[in-house]
Amino acid sequence: MDKNQKIPGEKIALIEEYLPGENTFEDNDTIRASTIGRVNLDSNEKIASINKQTQITVPKVGDVIIGVVEANLPSMIAIMIKYINGKKVVAGLECICVTRHMRKKNIALAKDVVKAEIINHINGTIHASIDSQELGVLFTKCRKCFGTVVKMRDAVKCKDCGWIDDRKLSLNFGKSEFLNQN
Ligand SMILES: [Zn+2]
Repeated sequence: MDKNQKIPGEKIALIEEYLPGENTFEDNDTIRASTIGRVNLDSNEKIASINKQTQITVPKVGDVIIGVVEANLPSMIAIMIKYINGKKVVAGLECICVTRHMRKKNIALAKDVVKAEIINHINGTIHASIDSQELGVLFTKCRKCFGTVVKMRDAVKCKDCGWIDDRKLSLNFGKSEFLNQN
């Protein structure tokens, strides 16, 4: 995510350095964003403001998102959000999903499509969970040959090379109409 892009509540400047401008609010000695957008620090007028980007939708706690895995790290996955509650979003925001408590090696791979629920926003980072049964991987490919996989209990098996791999699968895995399900 663009580091100049702020989400509501995120710190953009200090009161002793700037005056709060458009789309901001004061919080003790801090100026914070009240909307999503790019930060604009006017050093002549000493005004800190946010240029609103109306096309960006920030998911709320409890919203269900569908996104594409950007990074697959040992204890978390980063997901680029593509749909919020079944509605396509234009500009992408990323959310983080902690996976270290799951006893699986390959929770989700980069480029997998996953369904997740937003659980909180902390310090400008959107956190999501894929713990519930209906959440998790909706679409994945074989890690060895990128072939098509089919579900086998809670794992996937490649139709081409036979490789069996674990994933945190959603109950909706393999259902092509998953985008219409909230
Ligand atoms: Zn394969």
